[in-house]
Amino acid sequence: MDFAIPAEIAEELDKFKAFIKTDIIPDLPNWCQKGALPRTLFEKMGKQGWYGWTSENGNLVRKSALKESLLAEALARLSPGVAIAVLAHIDLGLMGLGLFGSKELQQTYGIPAVAGEAIMCLGNTENIAGSDVAGIGMTAEKVDGGWKLNGTKAYVTNGLIADWGIITAVSDPGAERKKRLSMYLVDLNADGIKRKKLNKQVWIPSDLTRLSFKDVFVADDHLLGRRGRGLHQVLEIFTNSRVPIAALTLGSAVGAFDLAVKHMQQRKIFGKHILDFQAKAYELSDFYAKMEAARLTLYKACWLVDRGVDFRGASSLAKYLSVEVAREVTLWAADIFGAASVIQEHPIHKFPMDVWGSALGEGTQDVQKLIIFREVMKKYN
Ligand SMILES: Cc1cc2nc3c(=O)[nH]c(=O)nc-3n(C[C@H](O)[C@H](O)[C@H](O)COP(=O)(O)OP(=O)(O)OC[C@H]3O[C@@H](n4cnc5c(N)ncnc54)[C@H](O)[C@@H]3O)c2cc1C
Repeated sequence: MDFAIPAEIAEELDKFKAFIKTDIIPDLPNWCQKGALPRTLFEKMGKQGWYGWTSENGNLVRKSALKESLLAEALARLSPGVAIAVLAHIDLGLMGLGLFGSKELQQTYGIPAVAGEAIMCLGNTENIAGSDVAGIGMTAEKVDGGWKLNGTKAYVTNGLIADWGIITAVSDPGAERKKRLSMYLVDLNADGIKRKKLNKQVWIPSDLTRLSFKDVFVADDHLLGRRGRGLHQVLEIFTNSRVPIAALTLGSAVGAFDLAVKHMQQRKIFGKHILDFQAKAYELSDFYAKMEAARLTLYKACWLVDRGVDFRGASSLAKYLSVEVAREVTLWAADIFGAASVIQEHPIHKFPMDVWGSALGEGTQDVQKLIIFREVMKKYN
């Protein structure tokens, strides 16, 4: 097994880290204050080809999961809130289009989205159903030439700024539970759509938005994949997006860990640096070991994705472990800063909050455990 990062990916990662320094760090406080990301950031990243997708002969093709995860980790070390906005665009929005869009849709909508000229999101969760994806209530009624959508998507990352959304709705209410939903590519500037930005404390400066649909017309050719396969399709998107969100979560842990270690080297208490207290040095080793375990699980998931091997269990394992580890590490790191950590503007403050977001997005820890359990039991049956 080769643990070396391929040279081409390492080079790209260095370029991306330089971009973070020049194009993100200086503006981040301003974005956080506004609670919104500028479109120019998406455009700049698209120009550099950093969205993990490329277009070949008009089709969207996914690049390396390992590369995407390394970039997500690097960005989340600084700002999980910026990283999630990028991931919602690439791994929820573009993923839906890439996996289930026709060649025409991929050509028309995918290419501008890969270039960062258009922003995407995915709306599935409703007030009545999140984990229970099949339980959503939004309706898609068949009309002449298309569909009429009615309902509300309760929590949509990028919902405020996105041009196009991947939206699930009940197209076949009379069908069995697994075949009731379909998936649509929706122009979010269409008549009948209202956006309401929600006031949240995690993943700042990304937006979390409620999208309401009243008699929104979606043309027939904007149905993604197959009618009645919406549940299966959205679960497949989540299986894929759990890998980069695990990377984002690991990045949140590493970002907090880095800050804590620097502080432990500098801050003196009772005449000694914090790091000179052996109890604290042991904690550091303990958390480093856990982060390494999460990293290896993540890299294995990337390895499976990049080889086209079944990664259902691996992506849930990666997400589950990264969240468990990041929860512990970020709270520990915040504690190292004492009272300063509770001040909202302090750089450490966001990390435990952001891991709270990670624990919910793309399936809670309970949902990951259900999937892991199912995968484990396959070995025993
Ligand atoms: C910051 C943020 C961004 C988000 N962005 C998006 C987005 O872009 N698009 C989108 O569609 N959604 C988004 N979501 C929603 C997210 O996907 C849901 O919150 C998540 O799936 C959980 O659904 P829920 O909130 O309805 O909780 P519920 O499903 O009601 O779960 C409540 C509790 O029950 C537990 N539970 C659920 N099922 C089981 C079970 N079978 N066994 C045991 N325990 C169980 C859960 O683990 C949880 O603890 C976002 C959420 C947050 C917080």
